[in-house]
Amino acid sequence: MSKIQNKTDVILIGAGAMSATLGALLKELAPEWEVKVFEKLASAGEESSNEWNNAGTGHAALCELNYTSEKSDGSIDISKAIKINEQFQLSRQFWSYLVNSNLIRNPQDFIMPIPHMSFVQGEKNVAFLKKRFEALTDNPLFQGMEYSDDPDKLMEWIPLIMEGRTSNEPIAATKIDSGTDVNFGALTRMLFEHLKSRDVEINYKHSVEDIKRTGDGLWEVKVHDLELGKTTYHTAKFVFIGGGGGSLPLLQKTGIPESKHIGGFPVSGLFMVCNNPEVVEQHHAKVYGKAKVGAPPMSVPHLDTRYIDNKKTLLFGPFAGFSPKFLKTGSNFDLISSVKPNNVITMLAAGVKEMALTKYLIQQVLLSNEKRMEELREFIPNAQSKDWKIVAAGQRVQVIKDTEAGKGTLQFGTEVVSAADGSIAALLGASPGASTAVHVMLEVLEKCFPEYMMEWEQKIKEMIPSYGVSLAENPEFFEEIHSSTAQTLGLNVKELAYN
Ligand SMILES: Cc1cc2nc3c(=O)[nH]c(=O)nc-3n(C[C@H](O)[C@H](O)[C@H](O)COP(=O)(O)OP(=O)(O)OC[C@H]3O[C@@H](n4cnc5c(N)ncnc54)[C@H](O)[C@@H]3O)c2cc1C
Repeated sequence: MSKIQNKTDVILIGAGAMSATLGALLKELAPEWEVKVFEKLASAGEESSNEWNNAGTGHAALCELNYTSEKSDGSIDISKAIKINEQFQLSRQFWSYLVNSNLIRNPQDFIMPIPHMSFVQGEKNVAFLKKRFEALTDNPLFQGMEYSDDPDKLMEWIPLIMEGRTSNEPIAATKIDSGTDVNFGALTRMLFEHLKSRDVEINYKHSVEDIKRTGDGLWEVKVHDLELGKTTYHTAKFVFIGGGGGSLPLLQKTGIPESKHIGGFPVSGLFMVCNNPEVVEQHHAKVYGKAKVGAPPMSVPHLDTRYIDNKKTLLFGPFAGFSPKFLKTGSNFDLISSVKPNNVITMLAAGVKEMALTKYLIQQVLLSNEKRMEELREFIPNAQSKDWKIVAAGQRVQVIKDTEAGKGTLQFGTEVVSAADGSIAALLGASPGASTAVHVMLEVLEKCFPEYMMEWEQKIKEMIPSYGVSLAENPEFFEEIHSSTAQTLGLNVKELAYN
């Protein structure tokens, strides 16, 4: 039977925050290109990007202690924190550009100001936090950060966390008011609405089953229409695999050399949600703790004020766990089906090396609700079980690959994997996540469209003025950008306080 092929310029697989961002960038840089999207679920932003599936932190390293490690000489390495903060500034600028150009509206529906805090207990952790504060405080990107180990001050900042605390253990916190809560689900939906208005063809309930190279150098994508039960074939010059956890199996189908010797390690998550408005009202911050010894960075506990469905709520977690699924809506066979002859050694090596992590994740899955309440009580001593319920969060698939550190090394960041000729790219990994989507999608453009970058540079700088510039080294420029994006996105805390 002959196949009918539908030709297009660009295919985006998956309707999450990453495809949304790439689509929005491309529509500004090459508006004449024809773009198609295939998403297997019924609407946009339903997997990891959904507001209930992630923690909604605008990651700028203001409070996440895993981005500032202690060196062997006792000093604090802030290079990663600077990098992530700069990447978040790129997102703020692109979102501001979209708002200023009326391409998306009502930024308060997807971004809200909220203090970002780090909170630690015990002498060693207090000493670490103080050193971290001292290392960051003079850097322009972290201006306005405060430190305190005075219980009265902490009571003022975080009454819910301080109330009922009886231990004499030293405690300390840092606080910075320029943090944000980002509703990535709402943002993703807004971006897809915008793409629709720009004639992007968005096909929901369409699952991509296969990707092959054609004789004329295009990519052919086999798509199954889940409603009509029909299969169609589409070709494109460029394909972006933005399938979240579903990206690895699709990348493997491309057969490109860059897809070999890579595996995925799925980590599930659970949040505790507070549904008592009296408790919710007593807290106004995202408060990150320190990961327990042996726990992976993605399981750092935090107590967050969230703005979801125009309502303030509290989320605690995530509790990491083990599930063989690559997507929340995935299959129990995802992990086993991803083991191929070319990555079996990589996967086995990771299995041996990460035995302790696997054991930790399985133990986490088996925690009783009362045990989870005990962990919550380390943050809120007076927490009552009746006020909290458990919700399942999204899946993260951590990349496993062979590195200088050895075969089968688990990676905690994101990786853009692309063909040498730039005709196809996939995004793997989950951290720092959607906060840095603009930076990651600019990387996709640089890797896949080097021949257009000169032509596009001026437009990129119009949208993202700090593109290619270090803000940490240009404090005045940072100040200008930070205050103009705060103005556009409605993040000026003082102004809000007067409203
Ligand atoms: C527990 C948790 C907490 C997190 N907290 C934060 C946070 O605080 N801040 C932050 O910035 N990031 C956070 N993240 C990460 C963030 O959620 C992700 O980086 C981001 O949502 C990834 O977007 P995406 O578009 O790549 O994937 P997704 O949003 O998962 O979208 C992928 C889409 O592809 C579709 N798809 C998959 N396979 C196919 C196929 N074969 N055919 C068609 N469609 C397909 C899926 O249905 C899905 O809609 C967190 C993630 C988790 C799980």
